[in-house]
Amino acid sequence: MSAHAFAPSILREYDIRGIVGETLGPEDASALGRAFGTMLARAGGKRAALGRDGRLSSPELAAALGDGLASCGLDVIRVGRGPTPMLYFASRHLECDGAVMVTGSHNPPDHNGFKMVLKGKAIYGEDIRRLGEIAGSGDFASGRGRIAERAVLEEYVARLLADAALARPLKVAWDAGNGAAGEAMVLLSRRLPGEHILLNERIDGTFPSHHPDPTVPENLEELRAAVLRHGCDLGIAFDGDGDRIGVLDGRGRILWGDQFLVFLAREVLAARPGATVIADVKASKVLFDEIARMGGRPLMWRTGHSLIKAKMAETGAPLAGEMSGHIFFADRYYGYDDALYAAVRLLNVASREPAGLAALADQLPHVVNTPELRIPCGDERKFAVIAEVKARLERQGADVTAVDGVRVSEGDGWWLLRASNTQAVLVARCEAASEAGLGRLKRALGEALAESGVALPAL
Ligand SMILES: [Zn+2]
Repeated sequence: MSAHAFAPSILREYDIRGIVGETLGPEDASALGRAFGTMLARAGGKRAALGRDGRLSSPELAAALGDGLASCGLDVIRVGRGPTPMLYFASRHLECDGAVMVTGSHNPPDHNGFKMVLKGKAIYGEDIRRLGEIAGSGDFASGRGRIAERAVLEEYVARLLADAALARPLKVAWDAGNGAAGEAMVLLSRRLPGEHILLNERIDGTFPSHHPDPTVPENLEELRAAVLRHGCDLGIAFDGDGDRIGVLDGRGRILWGDQFLVFLAREVLAARPGATVIADVKASKVLFDEIARMGGRPLMWRTGHSLIKAKMAETGAPLAGEMSGHIFFADRYYGYDDALYAAVRLLNVASREPAGLAALADQLPHVVNTPELRIPCGDERKFAVIAEVKARLERQGADVTAVDGVRVSEGDGWWLLRASNTQAVLVARCEAASEAGLGRLKRALGEALAESGVALPAL
C-alpha cells in the first residue's frame, strides 16, 4: 500500500475532521484505517470496533476505514449507526483493543471526521500527528483481518437503563436534532417511566430541523417551546453524535454544563464522600465552591474531552464535566462522555426533587457571567498572546491559575483567557457577583488583550 498525505487542516488536536469532497474523502478514510490499524497492531491490538453517525457520507467513509483496519490484520466489528458513546460502549462490551467513530459531531452536514480510542484512551495531539506520519511513510502493518457486523444498540440502551432509578415519573421533552442519538433516545425514553415528548428523533444527515449543537441557544428554541407547551419537568437535547448534552429546566431556562454538574456531583459525593470532581477551566466558580462545600475535591482542568478523560483516569475522579455539555461518569459507568447516560443520571436527580430542576437552579449562589466569548486571533499568534498576558499578570502579582491559559481571580469574580486548540480564536469568559463587578472584569480583560494588540469585540 502506498503512502498517503492528508490535507494538513484535517489532523486536529482531538480528532480528524474535514469537508467531504474537499479535504476529506474515502481515500483518506482508507489511509486512516491503515495508519490507525498499524498503530493498534504494533501496540499488540487484535480487534477494533467501528461505528458511524447518520451523515450521508458516513457509510462510505466507514466502509473504507474498515477495509483499511482489516488490511493491517485486525478483526473489525462494525456496530452500525448510533451515537459516539455507543461506540465507546461497544469497545468495552466487546473487549476491543481500539475503536473508531466516523462522525462530524455537531458540524455542518458536509463535514465529517473520526474519533479514535486506543486501548481505552481517546487519542489526541501527538498521537494524531503520528497517524499523519505513518500514512505519509506508507509503512503500514499488513495482514488479513475479518470484518463482521454486530449490532449493540439494544445492549447499549439496556446498560443505560440499568442505572435509571426515578423516584417519580417525569414529563420530559427530548430533542436529538436528527443526530445519531435519535434511535437510542427513542428506545431509552420508551422504557423510562413518565411521559416523553420526542423531537427530531429521526436520524437525518441533512439536519432539517436545526443544527445539532445544544451550546447555541437558538438550537434549543424548539425544545424550549415544547417544555413550556407541555409543562415538562425538563428538556434534554443532544449534539449530533450524542457526546454532549443540553439541558433546560421546567421554566425553559438553559442550564449550562457547569450548573447541572453541581446536581450530579451532589449525588455522586453522597455515595463517595471526598471524591474528586473535575471541571474545565471555563466553569463557574460556583461549581468549584459547591463541590468543596459538599465535601468533594474540586479539580480545575484543561478544556477538551480527551484531556479531561485522561485526567479522570489519572486521578480516579468518579465525575467530570465541561461547560460545553461533555459529562463524564466513572461512578457506576466507564468514564467517557455519554450524553444519554448523563441524561439518565440527571433524571434520577430531578425525580427526587419535588420542585424540579428549576428549584435546584434557583438555590445556587447568584452570579452574573458572560457566555463563552470567542475572539478571532491567528493560530500563529494566539499562544504568544496568552504567554504575554500571563507574564504581565505575574509581574503585577495577580492571582493567576495557569492550568489552561490564564484564569485571573479579581475582586468578587474571575476572568479567563485561553487559546483554542482547534480554532484561530482566543476564548474568554468573565464572572462576578454583580453586574458592576462583571463590568470591571470585562474592562480588565479588554485591557490585557489591548496590551497585546488584540481587540475585545463589543460585549
Ligand atoms: Zn459531539
